[in-house]
Amino acid sequence: MIDLKSKNLQELCEFVTKLSYPKYRAEQLFRRIHARGARSFDEMTDLPREMISYLKENARISFVETERKLTSSSDGTVKYLYRLHDGHFVETVVMKYHHGYSVCLSTQVGCRMGCAFCQSTKGGKVRDLAPSEIIDQMMFAERDLDIRIGNIVLMGIGEPLDNFENVIRFLELVGHPKGQNIGYRHISLSTCGLVPKIYQLAEYDFPITLSVSLHAPFDDMRNKIMPVNRKYDISALMRAVFDYQKITNRRVSFEYTLIRGMNDTRECAAQLVKLLRGRLCHVNLIPVNKIQNERFDASDRRHIAAFQEYLTQRGVNATVRRTLGADISASCGQLRSDQLEKEGTS
Ligand code: SAH
Repeated sequence: MIDLKSKNLQELCEFVTKLSYPKYRAEQLFRRIHARGARSFDEMTDLPREMISYLKENARISFVETERKLTSSSDGTVKYLYRLHDGHFVETVVMKYHHGYSVCLSTQVGCRMGCAFCQSTKGGKVRDLAPSEIIDQMMFAERDLDIRIGNIVLMGIGEPLDNFENVIRFLELVGHPKGQNIGYRHISLSTCGLVPKIYQLAEYDFPITLSVSLHAPFDDMRNKIMPVNRKYDISALMRAVFDYQKITNRRVSFEYTLIRGMNDTRECAAQLVKLLRGRLCHVNLIPVNKIQNERFDASDRRHIAAFQEYLTQRGVNATVRRTLGADISASCGQLRSDQLEKEGTS
């Protein structure tokens, strides 16, 4: 069955012309699927009857089903555990900010990057998500909550640049004026640092925000918590990020999760300043979320504030990320791993 929601307009044109329909049918199909969120071909009343019966037999409109939905009583953050068509699970979080709704999307089922502090990678990668499955997470949340989402962060389960083609297609689809029409400036892509893919992404010149999970300013420390660093070390990563910036002219952000007694020292702050001073960038400081079987604890608030102050006083822009949805285990990977445990498959 053809996954219609993953096709771009050009492919849909080829598809309908092969069936001897005029090209405008492709646009109707695209709008129905992407702008109006059609779930079945029967809703497509503006298409010819024979075309609908052909589509029913040969194509599908992808969907996700809600396995669990948790709403934070403190800040309204909503977390979904979605079941995909083949029974796998992904997580999606919807957050409300003063400027509107933001959604955090998953890009893979599991992850193979192996970051020591991250729950999503514990069982490895199961499979990549199709472009349609990345879009579905957002479309289903919008419909369920009756809201319009304005911001997207690719910071859920998975490494977006390890599912490169599908993520590029997702960006193309979600930003399309005839579809969801999300402005690229409202999209952030977070990566653990796959250097060649950062260069590849730069070639597309999407005006999205690149967000880099740095988490440690020294190679020996980063090697221990992020295996990707053994392949692409900090200097290679920094070169790629700032080359990316030269091409796209966009401010980049760095995520830095603070782990007590490890990367929250004065020495680390000083090294971060060395790496980032004079650059157009922003540092997001995040107290680490404790995960099962791991020894990492979050730095205390005073420590975090001092770390932030150290950076900002030396000209490195840094803020502490507000923790949303703490009462519903909103950090990624936790619901999925609970579910796998429940089903006895972890
Ligand atoms: N693979 C991508 C995107 C997914 S992870 C990446 O590495 O950037 C999204 C962010 O959450 C990353 O910065 C990741 O390092 C961080 N993260 C993962 N587990 C965490 C935890 N237990 N506490 C705090 N941040 C965590």
